[in-house]
Amino acid sequence: MKNALPTSTDAVHAGERVDRPHHTLAPSIALTATYTFDDSDDLERFMRGEDPDPGRLDYGRYGNPTVREVEARIAALDGTEDALLFPSGMAALTTTILAFVKAGDDVVLFRDTYRRTRQFVVNMLSRLGVSHTLLEPGDLDGLAAAIGPKTRLVITEMPTNPYLRCVDVERLAEICKKTRAKTLVDATFATPVNAMFSAMGIDLVVHSATKYLGGHNDVLGGSLSGPSSLLSLVHEARDVLGAVSDPHAAMLIGRGMKTLSLRVSRQNQTALAVARALEAHPAVERVYYPMLESHPDHAIAKKHLAGGGGVVSFVVRGGKDSARRVVDACKLARIAPSLGGVETLIEQPAIMSYSELGPEELLAVGIAPGLVRLAVGIEETEDVVADLLEAMDAAAGA
Ligand code: PLP
Repeated sequence: MKNALPTSTDAVHAGERVDRPHHTLAPSIALTATYTFDDSDDLERFMRGEDPDPGRLDYGRYGNPTVREVEARIAALDGTEDALLFPSGMAALTTTILAFVKAGDDVVLFRDTYRRTRQFVVNMLSRLGVSHTLLEPGDLDGLAAAIGPKTRLVITEMPTNPYLRCVDVERLAEICKKTRAKTLVDATFATPVNAMFSAMGIDLVVHSATKYLGGHNDVLGGSLSGPSSLLSLVHEARDVLGAVSDPHAAMLIGRGMKTLSLRVSRQNQTALAVARALEAHPAVERVYYPMLESHPDHAIAKKHLAGGGGVVSFVVRGGKDSARRVVDACKLARIAPSLGGVETLIEQPAIMSYSELGPEELLAVGIAPGLVRLAVGIEETEDVVADLLEAMDAAAGA
């Protein structure tokens, strides 16, 4: 296990199999729902756990070689003993959480956790007798006060959506270390290239592989990285719940990961350039990007992140309609949810992810009506910056 951030060489090679059937360079897709045994002795030896091949499998829901290789590669990039792949980020989160909690436990999470994760914990886990504690973004004193013998999981994201809040992950891990609570960081926005949370003392690291790992907006996936002792519990839960990755999807994620480091480097660079350009623009009220000195968590971001990632959020002066005009005037950036892929995407949270909320409710959850979230792709930095600046001018003249 490495303790340093993965390089491009790691993204291409770390954790890769070198003994492929037929000496193929690229992995093939192992399309099989089940596996065979030569005879009953062979089967019984396997069932006793005495098969000479420790990676041998008996049924598709319990594992797949194509999926397994991608899991090994994710573990190598996250600096953990093992990783598990899932059909979506939410499948990774829900399976993991269910593997750890039982009735009577408490789950601590921060208010700006991904909406669906929060919904799962607040609305669904409560039906199973699992309580929750919601903390304000980055409130570690609150965490220290809230954590108790019932706390089983502490869940955070880094950076968070859409304001890119960053929490002092090392301090968070330190607070939890003396307790029975396991720490889980959803590192989707950070990517393994910008942060190795396992080296900061975090137990479990989740990625929505739909975003940067896959990187091409063409596949859904999720992953969990951590020590084998914890992941074996989640593996058992995955075997039962059936949240298994299709090998086609795994192949696309594995292929995307080869260019992860190159893509994220470009996205870090472009997002910072866009953030600086927007910050200097008179029609922009506020820009949120962790690598800007003006961001409230800049110091933590500098300490824990090698780059700010590809998402920049900004508030357009004039509110909802002004922001809408900017979004509509973009030519390169396409209107879509999601982030981390090769194409630049743009959205106005008030009419997309939070469209069901009225003006007061939007304010209550902290979403400014004029907020725009830009997720940069890997186009030329100057083209993405120009697209935004031209859209701002066009919107002002409209
Ligand atoms: N975590 C974060 C931070 C996300 O942004 C998302 C999706 O947007 C998810 C988890 C869920 O991932 P998926 O859409 O792959 O289920």
